[in-house]
Amino acid sequence: MKEPVSRRSILRGAVLGGTGAVAGTLPTLVPYAAQAASGPSMPDFVEGSAALRPDKTVAGACQFCNCDCRLEIRMKAGRVIDVRGERSDPVQDGNLCVKAPMMAQLTYNPLRLTTPLRRTGGAKGDPGSQFEPVTWDTALDLIARRFLALRDQGEARAIANRTTGRMPRGAGALAHRLFSLLGSPNDTDVGPVCNDAGGNALAATFGLGNFTNGYGVDPATGKEDLGAARYLLMLGTNQAETHPVTFAYLLRARQRTRARLIVVDPRRTPTGALADEWLAPKPHTDFALILGMLHEVIGQGLYDRAFVDRWVLGFDELREHVAAKGYTPEWAAGVTGVPAATIRRIAREYATAKPAAIFCNAGISHQLGAFDTYRAIAMLAAITGNVGVPGGGCNFMHNTWPGGLGLPPLKTGVPDPGPALPVGPDAFAEAVISGRPYRLKAVMTEGNPLISSANTAKVRRAFETLPFYVYTGLFMEEAAYYADVILPVCAGLEFEGVYMRRDDRAIRWQDAAVPRVGQSRSDTEIFIGLAHALARNDRRHPPSYWADAFPLEWNDYKKLWATFVANTPGAGGMTMERMRARTEPLRWPCPSAGHPGVSTLYLDHPSWYQAARSLDPGNAGKRFLTPSGKAEIFTPELESRLVPSGHHALPIFFTHPEVTGGNPTLTYDAAFIANPVNPQALTHPVRLGTPADGTVHRQYPLMGMTGRPSVAHFAGVTHWTYTGEQLNGIRLVQIHPATADRHGLANGDPVLVESPRGAVTGTVLIEPGIRPDTIFLPNTFGPAQRVGDIFGDPRYEAANTLLDDRFYDNLSGQQAYKCFACRLRKVR
Ligand code: SF4
Repeated sequence: MKEPVSRRSILRGAVLGGTGAVAGTLPTLVPYAAQAASGPSMPDFVEGSAALRPDKTVAGACQFCNCDCRLEIRMKAGRVIDVRGERSDPVQDGNLCVKAPMMAQLTYNPLRLTTPLRRTGGAKGDPGSQFEPVTWDTALDLIARRFLALRDQGEARAIANRTTGRMPRGAGALAHRLFSLLGSPNDTDVGPVCNDAGGNALAATFGLGNFTNGYGVDPATGKEDLGAARYLLMLGTNQAETHPVTFAYLLRARQRTRARLIVVDPRRTPTGALADEWLAPKPHTDFALILGMLHEVIGQGLYDRAFVDRWVLGFDELREHVAAKGYTPEWAAGVTGVPAATIRRIAREYATAKPAAIFCNAGISHQLGAFDTYRAIAMLAAITGNVGVPGGGCNFMHNTWPGGLGLPPLKTGVPDPGPALPVGPDAFAEAVISGRPYRLKAVMTEGNPLISSANTAKVRRAFETLPFYVYTGLFMEEAAYYADVILPVCAGLEFEGVYMRRDDRAIRWQDAAVPRVGQSRSDTEIFIGLAHALARNDRRHPPSYWADAFPLEWNDYKKLWATFVANTPGAGGMTMERMRARTEPLRWPCPSAGHPGVSTLYLDHPSWYQAARSLDPGNAGKRFLTPSGKAEIFTPELESRLVPSGHHALPIFFTHPEVTGGNPTLTYDAAFIANPVNPQALTHPVRLGTPADGTVHRQYPLMGMTGRPSVAHFAGVTHWTYTGEQLNGIRLVQIHPATADRHGLANGDPVLVESPRGAVTGTVLIEPGIRPDTIFLPNTFGPAQRVGDIFGDPRYEAANTLLDDRFYDNLSGQQAYKCFACRLRKVR
């Protein structure tokens, strides 16, 4: 181990001050760490001040990232004055990251939307668009009438909704019910933008699409789960910035276990900087690295024979496959640039270190072959016996509620919705513009597709012509200027609800801390209100069609949650009362009041078997929840399910055509078929193996990756806080020193990043910890982010104007944000 746990970026709490740089604009913040850093000899004058001594504390949760930290929200005279981390949660250990205080800055923010708005003038997308305030009833009636008119014309499927991770748990279930009653199949979540591929691959291999292990002590065994790992293999996951508090937990455990930490990433992130070893493959080539490791583990007999014999289906087919395809470490070295000897050594270390845990995040999900790559990783864990064991597993970050939240059955039937549009962030835009496979005419979003989609220019064109668009959000983000109706939502401290450490299925209850700003409503209330507006305006169905399906008492989240608990398999023990009484989150599945919840999925333990049976009586006696009850690498059924889409149960290497090196890539057929892993939706079949011609690299010799700007930001929302913009309001483009030299670029120079699709500006950050053939371009910046004006920051074009959205994973819908051909130009 190279370094002790560093707490420099982990705060114990944060004090909110009132001296903004520009008086009367936005509140500022004094980090509590600044006091802590001053040393134990200095008294805590804040704690000792009667003026700052809280008169009330509220138990909340930070909702920015998947750590789902518990917040002790300290109040004085009705205002949040401080947030502290939960000390009695051993995983959190009192920690928070730099973003926690920004939760309060969302509430105390003069740029908040405070009332529903209706468009009165201006072209769609024009920042000079005019809107007028309207009542909630007026806004919801307007939306209801437009939706019903389309339904009555036989075009229910032309209405679509896309949710985001910002919403309290359960809002997605309400949206799904509402769209089912309308007759539209196009109710989607943000999973294909974030990490659906991992869940899809886990479900196909082990039965459930969830992170397999848990942080902290497994209450079933009383032993550490992920803290017991002897080897931490992190691919495409920068946990120090994306999961700061759970990563700090892993680092604390590593001090005890001496576990080796291996980080695989084309750039040395703060996570890689803490690792025992940083491997830097070319972007978009992790798939080859894993195939090379599989070849080595099988060829050298490093797999777990007893586990394979008892619990794995398809091992012999995999052995023949990797041998026949020649996926040797030497071959993988040629593709990735990682030496073959290193691949062999890492394979041996991983296979023999038991237990060994793999972690992945967007660095894998945002690749063209995300589903197949995740499947290969799951196979590596399965054949080494590293699944269903504490301290092991395939810990692929996932976004959505495990298995969905259930509601009571509808009293009425619902229309047959037909097939949904292909999954993926840009399918809506494609359908609006081209009408393929059919045209969308009304869209509602809970988030900002102009920043998150893979082709911002195309989404902009689509939303200019879209007949009806409803934007719901906190601020006038880019997308709001295209809206016909704007609905203001509450910030996270303004409502009670349930939040989830989505990684390990760990759920917390949070109480509301402050009154709602203006007339803002929570997302659950918006969908309930919209259902009742549909009841008022529907001429085909009686009001009870909608009103009975959305009881008004669900506006009280406690009652809504109790309904979910009563109707969701595996959640029977997750009552509000139980969660509220805990300082630690409670993990799903948790079928009864006496069940402790599940940390290690597939653990050969009565607690797991009981939970598995609660999910489906057909799981009785099964360890893995696949048809066979084993980890399924290859079965004839899986093969025949995947083949029409162009994929196979045994993964075949391909990558993005803009990866250098003349690798096999893929082509898409124009036809539509049912998606085998998202069967509600259509997809284009692919043909694997088309060679990339490499001509793009004559003009665009570098490879670009997009990603989170730093620990200061989460998606676009933190760009609307004073602290977020103060810390990281400049888009810093990371460039290797040799590459910068070649281009005559120095630190701080303005730079233009150009791809065949577009160009964006940034500021040069020379960084030796990145491959010379690769640059890193922070995403989530956008031209409507006004807070940076306080600091004189530029308004940036979205990074996703550079990507080629035609290349996406046709199974999971994930877009290839992690590779685009590009070049640099100094801005003079
Ligand atoms: S952003 Fe994540 S790590 Fe930071 S305080 Fe919030 S939940 Fe915790």
